[in-house]
Amino acid sequence: MTALIDKFSRQVRYVRISVTDRCDFRCVYCMSEEMTFLPRAQILTLEELHQVARAFTELGVEKIRLTGGEPLVRKGIDDLVTDIGSLPGLKDFAMTTNGASLPRYARALKQGGMDRLNISLDSLDPERFRRLTRSGDLTKVIAGIHAAQDAGFERIKLNAVILRGRNDDEVLDLVDFARDEQLDISFIEEMPLGDVSDHSRGETFYSSDDVQTRIESRYALMPSPETTMGPSRYFRMADSQSRVGFISPHSHNFCSTCNRVRVTVEGRLLLCLGNEHSVDLRDTLRRYPGQLEPLKEQIIEAMDLKPERHHFSTDGDVQVVRFMNMTGG
Ligand code: SF4
Repeated sequence: MTALIDKFSRQVRYVRISVTDRCDFRCVYCMSEEMTFLPRAQILTLEELHQVARAFTELGVEKIRLTGGEPLVRKGIDDLVTDIGSLPGLKDFAMTTNGASLPRYARALKQGGMDRLNISLDSLDPERFRRLTRSGDLTKVIAGIHAAQDAGFERIKLNAVILRGRNDDEVLDLVDFARDEQLDISFIEEMPLGDVSDHSRGETFYSSDDVQTRIESRYALMPSPETTMGPSRYFRMADSQSRVGFISPHSHNFCSTCNRVRVTVEGRLLLCLGNEHSVDLRDTLRRYPGQLEPLKEQIIEAMDLKPERHHFSTDGDVQVVRFMNMTGG
């Protein structure tokens, strides 16, 4: 089996596949208020998404994460999960979701072979939650978390993006919620993707070190060697099963150990979140329907395009024009 190795001798073993650019929320750090979504003809069909997943697993990829936009708004998502969930060689099958549709889908995802869920939760204040998501209902997300627990998902992880002056005062409440609900939680530094209209990233940047200092005002954090094959640095608390993670693209760059690429819903293989280097898989999928070899060859060749690292800065300038909803992080 050919492994996917880039020019920096990093092996790609993890692919994040966006199954839609659409979402039922409009989080202020992900999208602008007015968005134009891709027409149906331009997005990959469920069969094509399955082909892409299969090609990657046949090239040594062990972890697949389904993202969006919001993956659970994609019609037929449960069937796609069942198809991908049965791929040989897949060791870790995960999804990042806003959780609002989990009461409907949690059981089907579990039965389809999904291993883990990351659920976005940036505030426990219903009114602030609605403002940060521009439409979200916190009670639906809490119900989604409970539905996932009832469906048997373990090590559910909350993802929280902390913005200075917006929700940084809730860091400890979010940690306490995770402890009470026996969830893991990762705090993510905002990334400068897309020209979000809501705030200046230079003003709202809140580093992982700032978050850690807040947490350590109440809980001692012990570094943990645990990993989920992603960029999170994990810590443990002496009196809780919950893990606290930090995803710190600015303050603790993790590009030297990068093991992932992304596929957008329109079939762009993005070699790096922080750059625009990409190849068009959709053309190959539609030129050679049902054939894996041309697709695998294209993916192997694309590894030479993978950049060494991102060049994000915290001054708020938009480095990458595409919005986060095109890749789901
Ligand atoms: S920014 Fe690019 S190189 Fe760095 S970890 Fe992310 S995908 Fe890898």
